[in-house]
Amino acid sequence: RASDRRPVIRQLDDAAINRIAAGEVVERPASAVKELVENALDAGATRVEIAYADGGKTLIRVTDDGCGIVPDDLHLALSRHATSKIDGSDLLDIHTFGFRGEALPSLGSVGRLTITSRVDGFDAATIRVAGGETSVVKPAALSAGTVVELRDLFYATPARLKFMRSDRAEAQAITDVIKRLAMAEPHVGFTLRDVSGGGEGRVTFRADPETGDMFDALGGRLGSILGRDFSDNAIRIDAERDGLRLTGFAALPTYSRGAAVAQFLFVNGRPVKDKLLTGALRAAYFDFLSRDRHPAAALFVSCDPHLVDVNVHPAKSEVRFREPGVARGLIVSGLRHALASAGHRASTTVAG
Ligand code: ADP
Ligand code: MG
Repeated sequence: RASDRRPVIRQLDDAAINRIAAGEVVERPASAVKELVENALDAGATRVEIAYADGGKTLIRVTDDGCGIVPDDLHLALSRHATSKIDGSDLLDIHTFGFRGEALPSLGSVGRLTITSRVDGFDAATIRVAGGETSVVKPAALSAGTVVELRDLFYATPARLKFMRSDRAEAQAITDVIKRLAMAEPHVGFTLRDVSGGGEGRVTFRADPETGDMFDALGGRLGSILGRDFSDNAIRIDAERDGLRLTGFAALPTYSRGAAVAQFLFVNGRPVKDKLLTGALRAAYFDFLSRDRHPAAALFVSCDPHLVDVNVHPAKSEVRFREPGVARGLIVSGLRHALASAGHRASTTVAG
């Protein structure tokens, strides 16, 4: 019996390989938005415009004023493991959001993808990929930067389509992605628009003019994303330990929430969802909050890239610190100290 079912090992073609990778990188429209906006930021954009329709299911378009892609590289940008961001010699020396060279080929395998780009001194050009077929590069009209348009996400993978939630829920997830990236980049202007028929308009985060103080820039951006309430109740955090620095804003315990919805954590400028860091945040507030309350904070851990591995998962939202205990200790003690002295100040103020 075994003989008539003898397994045959075969090499999968590129289209299949890309679809498999897309399963990890592109879970829903918001993950496509994340990849495209990160590419815009890596390209040095100062303005990023995101338009979407029907919760991103039918259309996602990201326009930036970054460095662009030269016509001869457009094909390469769509090939797997092709990247301009690392040379592969040191996988810990990462200073960009991207480095795996996976997003564009993955997106091109699960939707209809068009990239139009222009680099100073070159003509604008465009390339399109759908259903595993890549077009030739054609001339296009664009004055600067890059426009990436993704239509009909998951049209070729009906199983994934079934997992999409309502347009509203997907739009909410897109908004959350943009908020996190906007917190990480206060010097970049962001506009998010729902262009569906009857869509709900736009959200704009104006670029900070880069006048100097990093806390002012971050504070302004956090105010426009989380509201005046957060700004009015948050204290500056600035602490250091063994090569790791912690900066950001943390809300006073009196501004806590019933759910962990206002916790934003970043490692070397990258939004992360990390158990170690959220655990440390909870521990820091342990003495200040009852168990059913959750702190609100936007915290940035920065360090030499060699002290943290971001290549843990294709979506890169998990990280691994070389010394987890140091990261945890920094957050717990940095926050406790700041909260304790804020409490002290508050009570001395009241006491006159
Ligand atoms: P990665 O970001 O990991 O390098 P991607 O598949 O997301 O991989 O992109 C492949 C390459 O295409 C990038 O390394 C970059 O050179 C180029 N690229 C993608 N998006 C943009 C953009 N918006 N502006 C300029 N170059 C881009
Ligand atoms: Mg990328």
